[in-house]
Formats: sequence, structure tokens, C-alpha cells
Amino acid sequence: MDNEQESTKMEEAYQHMLERMYEHMTGEGAPLEKAIDLAREDTVRSKGITPDEADKIAGYLLRDLQDLGDHLHQDKEKKDLRDWLLMDTTLIEAAIRDLLFSVADKTDVELMDLAEHHWRPTLLHTGEVTAPGVLACTFCGEELHFDRIARIPPCPHCNNTEFKRLRGARSRATE
Ligand SMILES: [Zn+2]
Repeated sequence: MDNEQESTKMEEAYQHMLERMYEHMTGEGAPLEKAIDLAREDTVRSKGITPDEADKIAGYLLRDLQDLGDHLHQDKEKKDLRDWLLMDTTLIEAAIRDLLFSVADKTDVELMDLAEHHWRPTLLHTGEVTAPGVLACTFCGEELHFDRIARIPPCPHCNNTEFKRLRGARSRATE
């Protein structure tokens, strides 16, 4: 499998896991972490990935959900997903945008609770899969805008492999 196919497989698996997690939470009322476990098993079965790959993807998903939960918690007045994505949401692939809005809307209490207990600043790395939004290179500050679920490339400017998610500050600064 070449690198591009590998990336597509990982990106699809992330999206599938997020969809299934949401269904387990809203359908059977599974608690968030249980819903991720169930979604991980579903994804191994239906997307042909190994349990090791599924563990990694579940880790990326949990990282992004904790970050989203922390954002919702910090920004309790507005609880605005658009501030977390930090980009024009009309540019984001419709299916994933709608899914993220549903997750943020219907599971916000669980996400905030998760973040309150587990969130810490987390760096993202080349080769990992990320939710849409804006990541900044920790070395040169180059911003990478992702309009879909994507596997993170090396920094196109300096080839660094470490990024942090940008959120909120810009829209708040312009208010
Ligand atoms: Zn860079």
C-alpha cells in the first residue's frame, strides 16, 4: 500500500470512528469513552484496519474531542464550534462539518466533562490524523488549514513534524 492509500485509509477510519461514536452515544446512550471503545471495534470490523491502527486512530480522536471539550468549557457562553475550527466552516467538507456540529451540540456536556478531567496541551505530529481546523508549526509558525479529516504532512515551510492546534483567540481578538 503506498503512502497516499495509507493516508486515505486512516482518514476514512477516523471519520467512521467519529460517526459510530456519535451513534453509540445518541442511540444507546453510551458514555463517551465507552462509545469510543465500541466505535473502535466497529471500525476494525468494517474498515479493515488492524487493532493497532484502530488504537492509534482512537487516540487521535480522543485527543481532538478533549480539545474540543476544553474549548466548549472555556467558551461556555457561546460554546461555538466555529471558534474551535477557526476557519470558514462553509469551506469544510459538508459531511464532516455536519457531524462535528452534531457532536458538539448533542454531546457537549460529556465532552466538557472529559476535558475537565483529562485535557492538557497536546502537540500533534506528522503522520497523525486530525479533525478539520488550523494547526501551526511549533518551529516556524506556518499555519496549515484542514478543510476535512486529514493526515498531517511535514511543515511545508521548514519540514518540522510538530504542530499545535490554533483555536478561538483570533475570533475573540477581533470582537
Ligand atoms: Zn515550520
